[in-house]
Amino acid sequence: MTENKKLAIVLPAYNEELVIEKTTHILLDIMDRMINDHLISSKSVITYVDDGSKDQTWSFMQGLHEQDSRIQGIHFSRNFGHQNALIAGLTEYTDTDFDYVVTLDADLQDDPLAIIEMVKLANSGKNIVYGVRNDRTTDSWFKRFSAQSFYKVMNILGVQTIPNHADFRLVDQKVLAAFGEYNERDMFLRGIFPSIGFNSAQVFYARKIREAGETKYPLKKMITFALDGITSFSVRPIILVRNLGLIMVTVSGLFLLYTLWSYFWGNAEDGWPMLMVSIWAIGGLQLLAIGIVGEYIGKIFMEVKHRPRYIIEKYLK
Ligand code: UDP
Ligand code: MG
Repeated sequence: MTENKKLAIVLPAYNEELVIEKTTHILLDIMDRMINDHLISSKSVITYVDDGSKDQTWSFMQGLHEQDSRIQGIHFSRNFGHQNALIAGLTEYTDTDFDYVVTLDADLQDDPLAIIEMVKLANSGKNIVYGVRNDRTTDSWFKRFSAQSFYKVMNILGVQTIPNHADFRLVDQKVLAAFGEYNERDMFLRGIFPSIGFNSAQVFYARKIREAGETKYPLKKMITFALDGITSFSVRPIILVRNLGLIMVTVSGLFLLYTLWSYFWGNAEDGWPMLMVSIWAIGGLQLLAIGIVGEYIGKIFMEVKHRPRYIIEKYLK
């Protein structure tokens, strides 16, 4: 066997004081097992990205780092969101001597044991290994339903995603280098990684309930996330609106012919209800169209400003 691979496990953490110690101990245990089995090098690390937590998360991290220097940390200057925390962790290890980066949630909902399988697959030549949930019974009916609808809509809109895969995945240096070429500010990682290509594999695991603390993804954030995913990957909503507009124009042309016909040969008084209906329908459609176009213009506005995705305040290394 060749040189053992260096692995960095990256976990975004926002107000996770209730689970961070437990998560760390479980991960260290798994890392030690992999080191013993010569799957990874003993220089592997666990890196938390503290996304501007307001609780004791960072001081717990400091304590853990003092006990074991393999626990490292990146601290944002404020909350920049889950996706940006992931990007910061991935960027940290791009173009370094780390062979693999695994990203997972800090709340132990993703089964850390699946990492072993991921590393084995990577050692056998896979560049990306996706963690896929084979069981969502621990999620609420609503979360399951909304997630399924989301994957369906993405599919219809032509965005390639992996159903039931969140941000639990392993990537190697080749993939990290390709990922570094994506310069857009607004990143939807679940769409970006499948679009990178290379050799990939999937590892199935059962999604567990959150170990402690509460979800940081309330409904409002989930909707924003889904809309962002769609508008940053697909222009089909605009095309849909354009086609609807064409249909509406044709239909109103027919209305016009009918009105002219009834003015000359029919009973013109009949037009009132249809007039009201058309005004409302066309007005509504126009608003919808402007809204969708506005969404994309907003995106362009955010992109051209080229602001930093996140700001790092300090490190634990
Ligand atoms: N998270 C983050 N920043 C945020 C929201 C969440 O870093 O603004 C982290 C959070 O600490 C967790 C992961 O992202 O490790 C997933 O969040 P959560 O478990 O709350 O989402 P859910 O599993 O309920 O979808
Ligand atoms: Mg969670």
